[in-house]
Amino acid sequence: MSSTGAEPSIFSRIAAREIPATIVAETDRIIAFNDIAPQAPVHIVITPKTGEYRNVVELAAGDPGLLAELVAVADALAADLADGQFRLVFNTGAAAGQTVFHVHAHLLAQQPGDPALG
Ligand code: 5GP
Repeated sequence: MSSTGAEPSIFSRIAAREIPATIVAETDRIIAFNDIAPQAPVHIVITPKTGEYRNVVELAAGDPGLLAELVAVADALAADLADGQFRLVFNTGAAAGQTVFHVHAHLLAQQPGDPALG
């Protein structure tokens, strides 16, 4: 199912380098960049480069391999930045706080030595 019809999402535009972002990881199909409004010392958005899936439920049903790839990118980033310990959040639906309807995970973590996330 299409996320936005004719208009590419903001995350597709970041992946296409049409909008600047601090990109921290990239594979053929996934891109990860620092959230513009971080809610934790490490707050990275991890998302497929294309926006055909609106949320994690659609992604899991439509391309579980891509979901697994996204989780592997999160694990690798957390291994580098946060001692391998992290929270992975998929807001699903506007009432749950989703504002960008192009599936993405929030990787949230402390930096090594910081107290645990609350
Ligand atoms: P949602 O609320 O949909 O779960 O998450 C969307 C996230 O994308 C928010 O945390 C928001 O700060 C982030 N975001 C929205 N627009 C931009 C942008 O242009 N650049 C970056 N780096 N993050 C963005």
